[in-house]
Amino acid sequence: MTGQVVVVGSANVDLVVEVPRHPGGGETILGGDLRRNPGGKGANQAVAAARAGGAETTFAGALGTDESAELLLASLERAGVRTDLVSRVDAPTGTALITVSPDGENAIVVAPGANARLALTDAQLHRIAHADVVLAQLEIPLGVVRAAAAARRPGAVMALNAAPSRDLPADLWDVVDLLIVNEHEAADLARTGGSPEGLAGVLLDRVPAVVITLGAGGSLVAERDAEPVRIPGKRVAAVDTTGAGDTFCGVLAAALARGLALPEAARIAGVAGALAVTRPGAQDAVPTAAEVAEESA
Ligand code: ATP
Repeated sequence: MTGQVVVVGSANVDLVVEVPRHPGGGETILGGDLRRNPGGKGANQAVAAARAGGAETTFAGALGTDESAELLLASLERAGVRTDLVSRVDAPTGTALITVSPDGENAIVVAPGANARLALTDAQLHRIAHADVVLAQLEIPLGVVRAAAAARRPGAVMALNAAPSRDLPADLWDVVDLLIVNEHEAADLARTGGSPEGLAGVLLDRVPAVVITLGAGGSLVAERDAEPVRIPGKRVAAVDTTGAGDTFCGVLAAALARGLALPEAARIAGVAGALAVTRPGAQDAVPTAAEVAEESA
């Protein structure tokens, strides 16, 4: 192990039902069999960072004490994530209710549950203080992201995947070292449209480094005082794009913790994201380091 990653974020059980069409208000329809999948941006990204290898990954999040919590813990542990500091709180584990229509469109309701109760413990803050990369998203209270950033050691990278899209207060911008966003989130945060290079230029006024993910188009890496770098997407047959962004973020964090430069880390993360879209599911679709290496060769 050469690096330490702490992922501060959400964990949800995804309850998924395929439906012939999404129901309207007051309507009941019959769907297919219920699937219970481990998910949530934080847990997905922790799984991706751990599978990427070369760094030790801790998940700092909150679960309830119910069956869903056990499903999530099992998935994290299977991937090699350290779960010793996961908080157990008196609230239901976060749950996403997802219906999927035949055209692949999702309708999602999230009950945040335990995620809304996350408050970092001294032990979690201590682990964060030893991390090379701290990775957070926006499915948890903003105060937790703030506390995680404040606890990091000098030289560590505070990476924020600003998803789902929401406004960031000024003081949060100031503590982010690396912003990871897709094109929509980039446009929302920049409060303008335009090319990825243009959006990155606006965002670089607020943070020192930005990665904008571009789906099949790969990603754009932009750092202050350097020319932006386009990382082309890998051509794959997409089966299910769920979790591509989370895979990208987790693998990127692990690569940075191993000491790779941002463009090379984004290249590896892009290969992992591309492999993830060739498989169904979120955590189950995350490739291993060996699979990514084989695809990169
Ligand atoms: P999602 O919310 O669907 O998980 P996202 O919008 O956050 O994803 P994307 O930009 O769609 O993030 O995907 C992240 C990365 O995964 C991309 O930068 C790219 O490297 C890879 N990727 C995603 N979709 C594809 C695809 N269809 N073909 C090849 N690579 C892909």
